[in-house]
Amino acid sequence: MNTRCSVTQDLLPLYEEELLQLKTQRFVEEHLQSCQECRQIAEQSQIPLPAEVIPGGASKKMMRNITLKLTTIQIFFVAIAFILAMSTTIMNDNSGFILTYAILG
Ligand SMILES: [Zn+2]
Repeated sequence: MNTRCSVTQDLLPLYEEELLQLKTQRFVEEHLQSCQECRQIAEQSQIPLPAEVIPGGASKKMMRNITLKLTTIQIFFVAIAFILAMSTTIMNDNSGFILTYAILG
């Protein structure tokens, strides 16, 4: 890891909070555009990236991937909720039923 990377990664939390000076902010944004590794770290930290970082094609693909992931997770949770609801209904266990909805809710 080079110095620019470590500096950028140190600054990411401040960048996220928009606490950086304009010059420093520019430095981080420019580095994120040129460095895959730091961009990934920024993405993992849920930091909204400057729009120009992502080229149109890649952005669409990424959005599709995110949507796909979300759908998979949603199906997963619906399946779990369904299974839990079924099992609690079968067991006729009211406390379990309430607990299930408390967790999922
Ligand atoms: Zn970097």
